[in-house]
Amino acid sequence: MKIRYFDHSATTPVDKKVLEAMMPYFCEEYGNPSSIYSIGKKNKEIINIYRMKMANILGCKVNELYFTSCGSESDNMILKGIAFANKHKGNHIITSKIEHPAILNTCAFLEKFGFKISYINVDSNGIINLEELEKSINRNTILISIMFANNEIGTIQPIKEIGEIAKKHGIYFHTDSVQAVGTINIDVKKYNIGALSLSAHKFYGPKGMGAAYINENIPFIRVQDGGHQEKDKRAGTENVPGIVGMGTALELAISNIEENTKKIKELRDFYVSEISKRIKYIKLNGDMEKRLPGNANISFKGVDGSKLITELDKRGICASSGSACSAGLLNPSPVLLAIGLPTSLAKSGLRITFGKDNDLEETKYLIDSLEEIVEGLRYN
Ligand code: PLP
Repeated sequence: MKIRYFDHSATTPVDKKVLEAMMPYFCEEYGNPSSIYSIGKKNKEIINIYRMKMANILGCKVNELYFTSCGSESDNMILKGIAFANKHKGNHIITSKIEHPAILNTCAFLEKFGFKISYINVDSNGIINLEELEKSINRNTILISIMFANNEIGTIQPIKEIGEIAKKHGIYFHTDSVQAVGTINIDVKKYNIGALSLSAHKFYGPKGMGAAYINENIPFIRVQDGGHQEKDKRAGTENVPGIVGMGTALELAISNIEENTKKIKELRDFYVSEISKRIKYIKLNGDMEKRLPGNANISFKGVDGSKLITELDKRGICASSGSACSAGLLNPSPVLLAIGLPTSLAKSGLRITFGKDNDLEETKYLIDSLEEIVEGLRYN
């Protein structure tokens, strides 16, 4: 069966050009970058070249970029590393209710070690309230961590303004940008960002490869002990093919950003307008303007989200419901609950995320399939 993939916020396929760039570093150029003979030293240089390329794109210094194993690790490294290194200044951290579990569960961990966390609300469009953010700052606040773009509803937060508030109060600002990097051209200085997490598999790079930008003036301690890699801040033999793949993927994403954005936004808008015309009792979740170009999150009243995914899968369509299924029970999406949806609608969300290789034919197939499936599933 032909697969039609509409789940690019979950992961993306590795771009063929990215794979090509990575290939030599598996079986030919396999030296350990810490070795002092030539094939090791050569790989150390390769790592530095790719660190420089990525730092240039992100607008940070080369010594401010650390390679990690994924977005979750970057989130952990930044939050724990900054929190523990700055505990003498204060124990209060501000985040939002709609963060990814990599942030929320790290915050829960920090709470066990005496940190106090404020989880600020979002409005019905999924955007944080800047006044509430500023009001929740107190003399113990050391860090604000607000995601750039949400993984379920795609909403984009007022990052520059948050950065300005943080700067005004002398607080560090981290943004989980896993969903944004590669789709939005981010310059950390322009946005007043002090620390940022990213993940290669969200922009056609390999899985298991991420990076953390941490401004050189922010004190932080390592959370992964071992050897002296990554300037003594993150132990572990570097993933040379992964670093080459991630750097190549980011360069490709940025150089094609306008063309890809236009294409996926057109498909997304076509999908939303057709679904709105053809299927009754739906709710479009999240702000339609301040949103990632490829994201459409729609609740279909009276339809069980997990059944919808299963039916789409039978037709070769990959999509996602925000709701996690645990022990056979469908939990409503915490993000959809946070924007004020009742439980029933929060259980009936469908996240479609378009990518650069989707086309109109498969989008029409998706729309036709959904029309039929929703009709059959309603209130069943
Ligand atoms: N943060 C956000 C917003 C995400 O969407 C994801 C993954 O979906 C992560 C963090 C975790 O990234 P990774 O899968 O690389 O661990």
